[in-house]
Amino acid sequence: MSDQNDVRELIIIGGGPAGYTAALYAARADLEPLVIEGFQWGGQLMITSDVENYPGYADGVMGPEMMSDFRRQAERFGSEFITDDVTKVDFSGSPFRVWVGNDEYSARAVIVATGASARWLGIESEQQHRGRGVSTCATCDGAFFREKDVYVVGGGDSAFEEALFLTKFATSVRLVHRRDEFRASKIMVDRAEKNDKLDFVLNAVVDEILGDTKVEGLRLRSTVTDDTWEVPADGLFVAIGHDPNTGLFLDQLEHDAAGYLIAKPGTTETNVPGVFAAGDVQDHTYRQAITAAGSGCQAALDAERYLAALEGHPGTAMTAPRPEAAEV
Ligand code: NAP
Repeated sequence: MSDQNDVRELIIIGGGPAGYTAALYAARADLEPLVIEGFQWGGQLMITSDVENYPGYADGVMGPEMMSDFRRQAERFGSEFITDDVTKVDFSGSPFRVWVGNDEYSARAVIVATGASARWLGIESEQQHRGRGVSTCATCDGAFFREKDVYVVGGGDSAFEEALFLTKFATSVRLVHRRDEFRASKIMVDRAEKNDKLDFVLNAVVDEILGDTKVEGLRLRSTVTDDTWEVPADGLFVAIGHDPNTGLFLDQLEHDAAGYLIAKPGTTETNVPGVFAAGDVQDHTYRQAITAAGSGCQAALDAERYLAALEGHPGTAMTAPRPEAAEV
């Protein structure tokens, strides 16, 4: 284990599919990465039950088990972990500096893979039923709601996409929206209106999720009259948007209006040479474990090329140099 004062080759911030995959590749390339994985390591998959769409797990796998596997595989090749949250970064010059409380670490390259977090409604019963009938991911959990009656909250493209996807499985899908106009694109709304399984509950919010060990119903509240009423339901999908976990980086790395980091097209390079972004922190389109893992791999290869160019050699057999590597 190297000393805290050493300048490392690579620090990876974030312990989800992107961070661990970056660590696996970087460790195998002898970069001895330090992964500051977060106090709640594992990312969004830690709150998912069965994962059935990750290639290689033919019989499915529990989200936390899969993330343990990712972590173990990265560890096997020499990644080092700190199970805590980064509290401050300084990317203004090389070496880049990263703090965990009062402890400072520095490296010549950094991969930011801090992910995104789904927005929640903020009601207590939602946390009680999370992973047991309440979900923020229809792609992950929709298949568990075959022939069930489910509700989706939200009025944006995500909510419509989730609701339409759920009609493949559920008997009925009702989309609850707090206004009577949608933020979603017209084409999505048209498609939803034509779907016989899908209904709307407008000018309403979810006040409470009913049921002890499983979801049995919802208490809805009118945003016009404040009246409340109860409906039977087997599940609730919260689709009111995601927020990238980029608060620490906004003043140092280029980002879009929603706070997602911007990587140069076709690469994981940020506006700061030597700092790379991987996974959901720079992707609000796909947001899948497999795409995050792929992007973590790309970031490790990009970082390896960058470090090799700093050393003045062209990289290992694993990484053919990019033409622009000479400019680094
Ligand atoms: P979004 O566009 O920000 O929509 C969030 C929705 O949730 C809004 O309708 C909002 O209501 C509602 N909402 C927010 N907080 C709420 C709360 N506490 N209680 C009840 N409702 C609440 O987010 P998104 O749908 O995730 O989309 C994000 C971006 O990704 C958008 O640019 C979208 O176009 C894009 N996207 C595209 C696709 C696609 O093209 N296939 C799919 C998914 C997402 P209000 O309308 O009243 O604010």
